[in-house]
Amino acid sequence: QLYRHAFYDGSATQLSELPEDNGMEVAFAGRSNAGKSSAINTLTGINALARTSKTPGRTQMINFFRLDSQRALVDLPGYGYAKVPEKMKLRWQQTLAKYLETRQSLKGLVLLMDSRHPLKEFDLQMLNWAKQASLPVHILLTKSDKLSHGAGKSTLNAVKQQLLKAELPASVQLFSSLKKSGRDQVIEVLDQWFDI
Ligand code: GDP
Repeated sequence: QLYRHAFYDGSATQLSELPEDNGMEVAFAGRSNAGKSSAINTLTGINALARTSKTPGRTQMINFFRLDSQRALVDLPGYGYAKVPEKMKLRWQQTLAKYLETRQSLKGLVLLMDSRHPLKEFDLQMLNWAKQASLPVHILLTKSDKLSHGAGKSTLNAVKQQLLKAELPASVQLFSSLKKSGRDQVIEVLDQWFDI
């Protein structure tokens, strides 16, 4: 299966270092600690993300995971904790916004949020940029194993309601890397974006 064959294919710290803009990409974004590395590992079975530095203040990297000659998953880090200098945050925001707006290969954005702390400022910003770029978004409410079945359901509904109210189009699901639940649902969305 395609996603199981993913392999690390380099990193970029700025847009000029990105690989050629052809083929199809799906990007993953989320605030630090949202569970993005774990989710990419769960989806692909690769561990390469462990190599990326999570030190606050360090230059953030855009990591590429190639699936085949035409398709890649792109790991777009959110900014880390409060310690990141404001100037660096702003520069990184500009990089993210520009990537979302200009990248032709980009077919969709998977936005990961801790299911206990959804729709924070970073998330809303990503959703707004994606909307401006007419880019489809699929939201993973991560670590859903931390919520009871009922709490998961009501969180899912609350997030959907908030998105409707804010007129931010996105599909939403619960996801747990720990329980490996929600994987099939994500793959279905990726397959669609990747024309599979
Ligand atoms: P990232 O910073 O977004 O890449 O987040 P990580 O994938 O490194 O995860 C951050 C923390 O959340 C780690 O301590 C993980 O073990 C934990 N975590 C990630 N996914 C899950 C999950 O599905 N369930 C639980 N309970 N913890 C998780």
